[in-house]
Amino acid sequence: MSALLRAEGLRKSFGERDVLNGIDLELAQHEVVALIGASGSGKSTLLRCLNLLEPIDDGVILLGDEDISDPRIEANAVRARFGAVFQAYNLFPHLSVLDNVTLASRVVRKEPRRAAEERGIRLLERVGLADKAREHPDRLSGGQQQRAAIVRAIATDPEVLFLDEITSALDPELVGEVLALVRSLAEDGATILMATHEMAFARDVAHRVVFLDGGRIVEQGPPAEVFRAPREDRTRAFLSRFT
Ligand code: ADP
Ligand code: MG
Repeated sequence: MSALLRAEGLRKSFGERDVLNGIDLELAQHEVVALIGASGSGKSTLLRCLNLLEPIDDGVILLGDEDISDPRIEANAVRARFGAVFQAYNLFPHLSVLDNVTLASRVVRKEPRRAAEERGIRLLERVGLADKAREHPDRLSGGQQQRAAIVRAIATDPEVLFLDEITSALDPELVGEVLALVRSLAEDGATILMATHEMAFARDVAHRVVFLDGGRIVEQGPPAEVFRAPREDRTRAFLSRFT
């Protein structure tokens, strides 16, 4: 099986601090991979590097056959093939939900407004947010905002969806509705790389979990194996905090 996205030997430092210390990671099409690890282990940095939001210091990132870490590449064109949702502040506050959802299609893909809006409404209907299409984000609950942010991220049919702890800033009662949406995208065959602290969700939905510690992949494998019988002491110590 050839990888859709592949990182080899990724290194990233901020000043003196080595944050990614040689990451090799593959993501197959339709695969859902959960990135777990303590705060500060490098999950967000890894997602941002793969997403070309952060320049890498060493290594290579391939999307299909294309070297997207080549400095000559047009990063915006590559990023248009990805979708990303972060912990918070994903939506533009001055735009309606529908404008948020259709912006990339209209501006980047030059799709006519009407076609983009018809599709945007259909997507919002699917997640139960059609009645919020004309509202500004601050009129939505945190869970609704994150669902809208996911809709915005998938509106351009991204090849890979990067999710960075998208439920961490939510009140506990709002987490379920957001995870349910991610689960339905996974069931529909989306390719997803998600940093998460929701271990039960990772176990249920991910095809593979990758445990990061100190900017290195310490252990990875099917959730049933990694969660039930971690091979590495560091993985065991990390997971014990969640039981
Ligand atoms: P995680 O998402 O696993 O919590 P991060 O990737 O956010 O980890 O952070 C890994 C390390 O890199 C942390 O020590 C953090 O302080 C540092 N770091 C992240 N982003 C920056 C930045 N822009 N400048 C300096 N240090 C950073
Ligand atoms: Mg993070």
